Amino acid sequence: HAKSQGASRIAFFDESLRAASTAAIETATALRGAVRRGELEVHYQPIVMTSTRKTVVYEALVRWRHGGRLRGPGDFIGIAESTDLIGEIGEEVLRTALTDLAVLRAEGQDVTMSVNISPVQLRNDSLPGIVGKLLEELGLKGSDLALEVTETALIDDVYAAKAILDRLAAMDVLIVLDDFGVGYSSLSRLRELPIGLLKIDRSFIAEIGTTNSGGSLVSAIAAMARALPVSIVAEGVETEQQARAIEALHCRFAQGYLYGRPAPLQHWLKQSATTAS
Ligand code: C2E
Ligand code: MG
Ligand code: MG
Ligand code: MG
Repeated sequence: HAKSQGASRIAFFDESLRAASTAAIETATALRGAVRRGELEVHYQPIVMTSTRKTVVYEALVRWRHGGRLRGPGDFIGIAESTDLIGEIGEEVLRTALTDLAVLRAEGQDVTMSVNISPVQLRNDSLPGIVGKLLEELGLKGSDLALEVTETALIDDVYAAKAILDRLAAMDVLIVLDDFGVGYSSLSRLRELPIGLLKIDRSFIAEIGTTNSGGSLVSAIAAMARALPVSIVAEGVETEQQARAIEALHCRFAQGYLYGRPAPLQHWLKQSATTAS
């Protein structure tokens, strides 16, 4: 009896694994076509200076317009990373984001652009060259661009990642550590890397006003950032209470639905038309 149950369980796992990998292969195939057909879009979310609440940076967030709906990166970045598609998608997002930055600048917005980089892209030493070429083509400087990397990217192969990040930082590109606090980086490791900005993961911001700790972790992270020293961005700010709490902790920058949700370039261009004095 036990044996037959075990066998059916194996058959079950085998079936579900097959289903999962079939779905992944289908998504990978559709994604390959999507890149060719130009179905990928880049939306932008403002990062504001807490003291003025003015937008100083836009973060580029990739979207896939697929079968009449807009799919978020959670649906396809993982699949892109496990195939060879992430390089192509990453380069496309960089090109679109920097092209759109040039448009925002032409409209008089004094902002820079922040782009998320996959750990896979950090294992390929062609990234600094790609970035340099794009900046030159578009007449932009390294200091116009920020690249957001996660701690996972640094754990895999910290020496290879450091070499690539050092080259980018030498071009004046700002290196941002995204989702800080949920990974495993040691402080000594962070100190070896050319990180100019830490983004506190939104799970810590969400604690403000909802748990008894009342953001004590955010204040610990802020103290640590001051010691390194690097500036910090609070991500996922949704309420006035959270905004006031992070302002009190001298968090220089913030991002979240309170200030603005990710939206297409067109939305932010209209915004600049209505707020221009
Ligand atoms: P992330 O870089 O940490 O981006 C922040 C995510 O939090 C975005 O989700 C954003 O829409 C969401 N968010 C912003 N403010 C709030 C808020 O106030 N409340 C809540 N609940 N959420 C907020 P999104 O666009 O789904 O992106 C998810 C992740 O996908 C990103 O996390 C980033 O790691 C990755 N990603 C996005 N675009 C790209 C890309 O072009 N390339 C790569 N490699 N990864 C990307
Ligand atoms: Mg990010
Ligand atoms: Mg983040
Ligand atoms: Mg995040």
